[in-house]
Amino acid sequence: MPLHRIAVAPLTALLAALLMLGAVAPSARASEKTSILSLIEQSAVSARVDPEVSKRQAESALELLRRDPNPDLEIRAHLLLCDYHSERDQAAAEQQIAAATALLPQATRPGLRAGVLNCQGETLQTVGDNGQARALYDQAAAIATQTGDNQMLAEVLFSSGYLRSLQGEYAAGLTELRRAQGLFEQQQMPQHALAALDSIAITYNRMGDYTEAEHLFQRALEAQHKAGLKRDEMVTLHNLGRAQENLQEWDAAHSAFAASLELSKQLDYVRGQAYALRGLATVANAQGNPNAAMTLLDEASELQRRTPDVRLLGQIDLARGIALHQLTRLKESAAILGQALLVFRQADSLGELGPTYDQLAAVDADLGDWRDAFEYRTLAQSMSTRLLRDQLDQRFETLKVEFDTAAREQENELLTLENAANQKALAQQLRASNLRTAVIVLTALLLAVLVWLAVHQRRSTLRLRGLAMTDELTAVPNRRAVLAQLAQLLRRSHTPTSILIMDIDHFKSINDRHGHLIGDETLRAMTANLREAVSEPAMFGRLGGEEFAVVLPATGLDQAITIAERLRERVMRIDLSRWLGDRRITVSIGVATSVPTHDTISVMLRRADAALYAAKDAGRNCVRTHAAAEEQITPRVA
Ligand code: GH3
Ligand code: MG
Ligand code: MG
Repeated sequence: MPLHRIAVAPLTALLAALLMLGAVAPSARASEKTSILSLIEQSAVSARVDPEVSKRQAESALELLRRDPNPDLEIRAHLLLCDYHSERDQAAAEQQIAAATALLPQATRPGLRAGVLNCQGETLQTVGDNGQARALYDQAAAIATQTGDNQMLAEVLFSSGYLRSLQGEYAAGLTELRRAQGLFEQQQMPQHALAALDSIAITYNRMGDYTEAEHLFQRALEAQHKAGLKRDEMVTLHNLGRAQENLQEWDAAHSAFAASLELSKQLDYVRGQAYALRGLATVANAQGNPNAAMTLLDEASELQRRTPDVRLLGQIDLARGIALHQLTRLKESAAILGQALLVFRQADSLGELGPTYDQLAAVDADLGDWRDAFEYRTLAQSMSTRLLRDQLDQRFETLKVEFDTAAREQENELLTLENAANQKALAQQLRASNLRTAVIVLTALLLAVLVWLAVHQRRSTLRLRGLAMTDELTAVPNRRAVLAQLAQLLRRSHTPTSILIMDIDHFKSINDRHGHLIGDETLRAMTANLREAVSEPAMFGRLGGEEFAVVLPATGLDQAITIAERLRERVMRIDLSRWLGDRRITVSIGVATSVPTHDTISVMLRRADAALYAAKDAGRNCVRTHAAAEEQITPRVA
């Protein structure tokens, strides 16, 4: 779904612009340009509030630009209109693309080419040509990166991440969407950042983590409602309904779809109405009201015809097939499900193919057509296996850091679902005695899948355990790993153990001056350097933020101080000119040494921390200790 951007304070801005034009001599050129620019920026925001307003603003901007041409601004206005049309009218969108393309040679902002490719991709995606759309997004991302155009890059990553997630590449999709969200925030485009959050939630929904999806949608919804982003609120309400549909929370889903319908009517947004009606019909089906569902779907089809959105058509057909099945109009049901199948196959939408095959198998079974029923059942089965496998693979990649019991529970839930589906398949096959042989083969196959899943899950658990001990940014042992090592040494060793806590001086000012990304690079470069300097059995790790630790087994206080001094001097020599220019970084280090078999982790840490604080207090870039013998530790004052 190419999303939605656009426009604003329409009449006032237009009037102001016209007044200026009329009353003014060449000296007013500059302010005229500013007002066109602000009209375009307003249009981009309106896209998230009311697309019709956005469209009018972009058109007004083009009108003004006719008297005072400016290729960059004209291209942006065409892109806004292209975005508006991409989900409504393919031909109109292509016209805008052609107009923007013609202006590209005169443009001074080379990144705009990425914007044009992006909208071309969105237009193709709406009509179901995802393969081509993907190629265009990749090209657009490369151009936006090369030209350093972060705004265009954010837009492209937003489209591309959504498509990847649609095609089952959840981890890659999430990475792109998170980058888009960050870039939008960086550029003070909070409305767009919220839309990216929405797509992130959609991805969780597709990954089968409906609860997380529901939670994120509710968060986005609140923010969108507060900011008055009606159009986005309408989209999020619909998506929330989808998550609740997956959770089978029918009453909640009904409310969400009904609210989405109401808003899309207010906005006169045809596509939104059709989506909401499809949702309401699915709820009606689930609650055993196929007649009500049919009425809602007729209305939805009527509206769908006015948009080029084929996947929506597929979803309407799927719901209609289910309703007709419930009404035992089996032949019609099979025919319409067949149409839905074609759409989902072209879009390669696994999440929708599975339920469609499943429904076709059930309809054919009721028609007594056992051969087809068996074939569809097998397809549904392999689709659900593929989806499950994709979901597991991708989830392991995505959740490596967020690993917790919730994720494991979720996997068990998926396995249970898989089991339930298998049981259903088996029961149905057994009823048809002439297919008994096939049943045996199928069962063996399913068992193999289950065994495979169990093995896969075990391997992944081991992998995740390793990841849980590693710092995500710098790939060195994290706080948990460092403390575990220290605890082991304190418990077992009869010789003193030392710990150094090292904190970068005035690190905040690096972030403030050069930005958070450069801050991250600094942390990485420093870590890479120190990791080389610290060799086994000593352990180097990141405690968090800009704070690091070195655990030194069998090392007394004097030796620990010498090592700390060496590391401190080494840090001063690290060359960061690539990111920080002339600036060098320094660290303050606190040293603590244990009394063997006597000290606990918390005592050690408290001592090292107090020593670090003393080093900061003494002017930074120095080493301080807090000897074990000193019982009284000065409390750290903030
Ligand atoms: P001091 O010399 O007293 O230690 O000053 P400081 O600026 O280093 O200390 P302060 O605690 O005020 O600020 C630490 C900063 O480190 C604040 C936070 O934004 C930044 N920071 C923490 N974790 C990360 C990270 O992962 N990446 C980046 N780029 N910055 C981080
Ligand atoms: Mg610091
Ligand atoms: Mg600190």
